[in-house]
Amino acid sequence: MMMHEPLRFSGLRGTLARDASLAKFTSWRAGGAADTLYRPADRDDLACFLRQWPKDAPVTALGLGSNTLVRDGGVRGAVIVLHDPGAALAVADGLIYVDAGVACPKLARFAAMHGCAEAEFLAGVPGTVGGALTMNAGCYGGETWRYVARVEVLGRDGRFDVRTPGHYAIGYRSVHRRDGSAPDGIFTAAWFRFPPGDGVKARARIKELLAKRIASQPLGLPNAGSVFRNPDGDHAARLIESCGLKGHAIGGARVSEKHANFIVNPDGRASAADIEALIEHVRATVAAMTGVDLEPEVRIIGEPA
Ligand SMILES: Cc1cc2nc3c(=O)[nH]c(=O)nc-3n(C[C@H](O)[C@H](O)[C@H](O)COP(=O)(O)OP(=O)(O)OC[C@H]3O[C@@H](n4cnc5c(N)ncnc54)[C@H](O)[C@@H]3O)c2cc1C
Repeated sequence: MMMHEPLRFSGLRGTLARDASLAKFTSWRAGGAADTLYRPADRDDLACFLRQWPKDAPVTALGLGSNTLVRDGGVRGAVIVLHDPGAALAVADGLIYVDAGVACPKLARFAAMHGCAEAEFLAGVPGTVGGALTMNAGCYGGETWRYVARVEVLGRDGRFDVRTPGHYAIGYRSVHRRDGSAPDGIFTAAWFRFPPGDGVKARARIKELLAKRIASQPLGLPNAGSVFRNPDGDHAARLIESCGLKGHAIGGARVSEKHANFIVNPDGRASAADIEALIEHVRATVAAMTGVDLEPEVRIIGEPA
């Protein structure tokens, strides 16, 4: 635990825990603990926490942990878990306002219910809106930032700032500041602009996309979606499969038989080290056999055991 974090906070309404396992907060169901875990009651409560949290102590945001591997030695400082089933969604001035802790499938259904088109792809992204903003999550031709009108960001000083997409350089599964550095602060909310459409058609499309996923992805086993980004003009899954890696296992982690770009934790006994070793093995094998250096899409955080 950080030696210089405050032992007491005042005025917090969320849930604070020390040395809290993060395995249940990640979709891989593996990995170490957070020195301090905070689940804010809402965005103002998060601001209250950050104003009291020492400026030199690390802070890591986590949504639904569906793109994150937490190393077995855990994460120093504070991990803020933003997913909140009660977080707000609303229609305002032709835009959809959404708290960053809302799950993307909920946003997809809300948009369809309000007669919007093109939000259907979000139904298949099992993360939060905050995670989708960070990753520029996308699939089936859709991409998060294409529909963002503005975002709200909370800085380390506990102040909110509203930004437009022009503040960021946005690419395939990537969001940076204009100077190339990582986005600062925590996304706390966003306003989306989806084109008007037919709600019935949108709901049918959501069903169809989810059926496609069930058929092609190992959704019954702990996983973190695509492990590697697709290289230009190719598919990571195709390359991995072509190297005979489907089913390859290290410890409790295995390359999925159903989708080669997924690593699964079938019995829930994989350590983060098993998963990371398998990621490295796949990367090295694909590089040696095809000459392509696959770049991980999943974020790896924390310290080794
Ligand atoms: C079965 C499955 C299918 C998937 N399919 C897709 C897909 O089709 N397309 C796709 O793009 N992804 C897909 N993913 C990956 C994942 O769902 C997305 O990347 C998603 O956007 C991550 O959201 P999250 O809330 O889980 O983020 P987390 O894993 O919790 O965090 C991811 C990163 O975002 C940061 N972060 C999270 N919230 C915030 C915030 N509020 N402010 C600032 N930073 C934040 C974290 O620090 C971390 O760096 C899939 C995953 C699974 C398990």
